[in-house]
Amino acid sequence: MPRDAIGWCWLVAFTGSDEVMELLLEGHKRFLAEVFPARRSHFHLLAESQAPQWLFITCADSRIVPDLILGTEPGDLFISRSIGNVVPIHSQDMDGVTATIEYAVEVLKVPYAIVCGHSDCGAMKAALSREGLENLPKASRWLHHVEAAFSHRQPINPADRDQAELASLIRGNVVAQLLNLKSQPAVANALVRGSLKVFGWYYDILSGRIEQYDEQTRRFERLLP
Ligand SMILES: [Zn+2]
Repeated sequence: MPRDAIGWCWLVAFTGSDEVMELLLEGHKRFLAEVFPARRSHFHLLAESQAPQWLFITCADSRIVPDLILGTEPGDLFISRSIGNVVPIHSQDMDGVTATIEYAVEVLKVPYAIVCGHSDCGAMKAALSREGLENLPKASRWLHHVEAAFSHRQPINPADRDQAELASLIRGNVVAQLLNLKSQPAVANALVRGSLKVFGWYYDILSGRIEQYDEQTRRFERLLP
């Protein structure tokens, strides 16, 4: 059975959902037969506690696989995911993102926090066009949290070709959410104490490369040459 992206799309389009679910069961069988035994001692260490080093705030997008991109292992990343990698600041409702941040900083005492946006982000496309949201009242409301991205748009990068306008907004959203992150009370206190450092990243799906926001130059630069 093909495991590449086209293969998955083909399966979803042309086969019943039970067959798609079988793929997960097959994957879990392989995990139990091969992956878990090889890492048994690591999982045993993690069974009763965790001490992640990084709070990783990213988009719910299926193409962002942090452990794959960063070579991290179970127990390394404490992850918050939502469409548009949002950090709400004016939410009247309880929201999972800020609760996750508070727990990561106050209880787990992570020394690093990263907001990671990505190319071709559907949430930011919708924010840009305001199309396709008619029947999505909750998503539409959630995307109010990315409006500040328009004030922080980054310079157009010709390398982004026909996605240059979108990419400039996505990078702007990383800057906006980074500011929101720094304004969270737990984060602000940790920054004053010097016990936390925060970073803004842009991950390009096509090249696999990550850019990091430089607060001095207010530009994104490649994380690696
Ligand atoms: Zn996204």
